[in-house]
Amino acid sequence: MHKILSVTFEDFNLNKSLLNALKDAGFTNPTPVQKETFSVILSGKDVVVTAQTGTGKTLAYLLPVLRNLKYSEQKNPRILILVPTRELVLQVIKELDKLTGYMNVRYAGIYGGTNINTQKKIVYAGLDIIVATPRRLYDIAMTGLLRLKDIKKLVIDEVDEMLNSGFRPQLINILEILPKKRQNLMFSATLTEDVNNFINDFFVSPVKAEIAPHGTPLEQIIQYAYFVPNYNTKVNLLNLLLEKKEFEKTLIFVSGKKAADRLYDKLIPEHKKKAGVLHSNKSQNFRIRTLKDFEEGTISFLIATDIIARGLDIREVSHVINFDMPEIPGDYIHRTGRTGRAGKTGKAVSLVTEKEQEYLKRAEDMMKMQIKIKDLPEGLKISNILTEEEKDYSYDKDYLKNLKLPEGQGAFHEKKEKNKKINSGSPAKKRKRNKKPARRSGKR
Ligand code: AMP
Repeated sequence: MHKILSVTFEDFNLNKSLLNALKDAGFTNPTPVQKETFSVILSGKDVVVTAQTGTGKTLAYLLPVLRNLKYSEQKNPRILILVPTRELVLQVIKELDKLTGYMNVRYAGIYGGTNINTQKKIVYAGLDIIVATPRRLYDIAMTGLLRLKDIKKLVIDEVDEMLNSGFRPQLINILEILPKKRQNLMFSATLTEDVNNFINDFFVSPVKAEIAPHGTPLEQIIQYAYFVPNYNTKVNLLNLLLEKKEFEKTLIFVSGKKAADRLYDKLIPEHKKKAGVLHSNKSQNFRIRTLKDFEEGTISFLIATDIIARGLDIREVSHVINFDMPEIPGDYIHRTGRTGRAGKTGKAVSLVTEKEQEYLKRAEDMMKMQIKIKDLPEGLKISNILTEEEKDYSYDKDYLKNLKLPEGQGAFHEKKEKNKKINSGSPAKKRKRNKKPARRSGKR
């Protein structure tokens, strides 16, 4: 153990250019994923790595890949890195910028939503490394301008997200035009059945490295949740939480584009001034600018959907708030992983309605741990205004009983007089963990 801790990049089989670049970036010790995968990737074997974002997985593949890349003037690229979103392309490019200051290497990002002709020109000029989203890459390859016959190494990052985002057909198309003899490196935060099947279909016995065990959150993240009766109370709670100084750089996750815009409108004016919204209906320029503003602290709160925020490396996010609980437990892990990065502690806060308790339980089951439930804070206004979606929802009696509402508040559900009774016990203690999750009992 002691020996592992003292490993530095000097102990790696790296060349001077990479060591100098790492020094400039201030990186001295490899992270666990880098330590565990470096030599096996360098050896040329196919590797599947289960590692969350924030663990340094990008450098884990870039370092050995760059270490083995020889100077060349040939036009066709030799390294192909596929990622699911444009933002991730830009992020991998950023890591490449960090590492290649002392090398002569040509690389570029190829992604949709930007002018294809500009990208064609870049490709035509000749590249060593291409970082791309699958659809745009395939489109350019089909024009005949981009030739993939010299690809020696293929990296597929966030394989789970690639498959979730429906990129399977494009991936298969691309795999078909790649040369058979190549090294495959796959990275995934979660190793779902889908990912396993995909890997078994296309790759022959890759070496597997599991860095953070499946479903385990990064240890330095403090996780807790609030049980809330309805949407508008969630809004009030969010507005109240954001007043606290500690929520200095907060990512707020919602279920979709509409939900993101709706929530932004519901923020109180002081918060609105400091908030941005990121979802796939926003233009690419807008998205890049908003991210930059958040990264640099021009705005403190960022409301985002999963697809946008996945894999993003934003520095020093103090809090992740699940305004809407994710239905898929893997998304909970992804979201949570946006904070507590690079040795910093972070907090993940979930706002959970009765319906969402099921999702909370799924996340807990996956992590094999319980998330602490906090009492609702003093000063929180419990709203009795229901949204359209909530109107035909009938609350489970137990759920309401176990909700500890702040002093003197409690009437939030007009329909069910008898359910207004407030139990003084803490919901955390009262929650029946093994009971089936609360279900809708009303007509839908
Ligand atoms: P990733 O998991 O690849 O998204 O990386 C998360 C962040 O950690 C990025 O900003 C990297 O530049 C940074 N990073 C990667 N490797 C190291 C390292 N060995 N020491 C310190 N920071 C690192």
